[in-house]
Amino acid sequence: MKLVYVDNNATAAVAPEVFAAMRPFLTEEYGNPSSMHTFGGKVRSHIDRAREQVADLLGANDPTEIIFTSCGTESDNTAIASTLRAYPHKKHIITTKVEHPAVLNFCNYLETTGYRVTYLGVDNEGMLDLSELKSAIESDTVIISIMYANNETGVIFPMEEIAEIARLRGVVLHTDAVQAVSKIDFKLNILPVDLLSLSGHKLHAPKGVGALFVRKCTKFSPFIIGGHQEMGRRGGTENVASIVGLGVACELAKQKMDEEIKKVRLLRDRLEGDILEKIPHVRINGHREKRLPNTTNFGFEFIEGESILLMLDEKGIAASSGSACTSGSLLPSHVLRAMGVPFTFIQGSIRISLSRYNTQQDIDYIIEHLPPIIKRLREISPYHE
Ligand code: PLP
Repeated sequence: MKLVYVDNNATAAVAPEVFAAMRPFLTEEYGNPSSMHTFGGKVRSHIDRAREQVADLLGANDPTEIIFTSCGTESDNTAIASTLRAYPHKKHIITTKVEHPAVLNFCNYLETTGYRVTYLGVDNEGMLDLSELKSAIESDTVIISIMYANNETGVIFPMEEIAEIARLRGVVLHTDAVQAVSKIDFKLNILPVDLLSLSGHKLHAPKGVGALFVRKCTKFSPFIIGGHQEMGRRGGTENVASIVGLGVACELAKQKMDEEIKKVRLLRDRLEGDILEKIPHVRINGHREKRLPNTTNFGFEFIEGESILLMLDEKGIAASSGSACTSGSLLPSHVLRAMGVPFTFIQGSIRISLSRYNTQQDIDYIIEHLPPIIKRLREISPYHE
């Protein structure tokens, strides 16, 4: 059956170039990079190269500002936990209501251990009010952790302005840039965030590898305590093949970024244009301009997102739900709820997220199959006249 994969914010295919670069480290080059012998030492040089490739994509001044981790979640947890440990007398954290659970649930947990957390709200386009951020800062605010781009809607937060506010008030700033890296062209040598998280599998590297940027002079203590890998900043024998893969994925992302942004934006805009024209009672959730070029979140009134996804799945289209009930509850997406998306649209929201591998044929296929699915579901919906 045909597969049209448009769930790239969930995970993206490993690029063939990445797989080819990883292969030797899963076969003949199996040395431990911490070993004294030449066999292990050779492997170490490939980790160093990957660190340079990641730093280069991010525009970091120094590759030693990059720490390899196991995923975006670990990077997020590490950034926050390390900062809390550095300033034990400070007990207030600022984040937003629309963060990924990697930040949101960690902050919920920290509240049970004596921290106070301010969760900033967003408007109906998913944007923050920066005056609220300014007035939320207290004398014992230890960290501001705000995502760069939202995984569900693609909405991009104004990181330059957020960083300026944090810098002026002397508060450490972490950004979860898991969805932003390779989709927004930013440079850390001019964007003054202190800590930044990324994840391999969102940019065509494998699952199970991530990185954390820690700006020089930022106080840091490890989250995973063990051996002295990663210059004593993250214990555990390195996932060499995946780290090498992440390095190559970053190099490719840098080479292809301009072209890819143009390509996916064109495809996404065509899809949105056609869907808005062909289907009544539909909205786009999230700011129309300040948005990742690859992401769209449609709200179809009067029907259930899960039913749409199941029927798309029958046609070989892999998308995802904006009202995902990951915990098995029927609560709609916390992001769309925070945006105040009307009830009749929120349940029928789906996310389509593209990658470099999507084509115009994929978009045509979705445009062929989605309108009849929506029509059919509305015919049987008790909410639709
Ligand atoms: N942060 C954001 C914004 C994400 O979209 C994701 C994954 O979807 C994560 C963090 C977690 O990344 P990982 O799956 O590598 O733990």
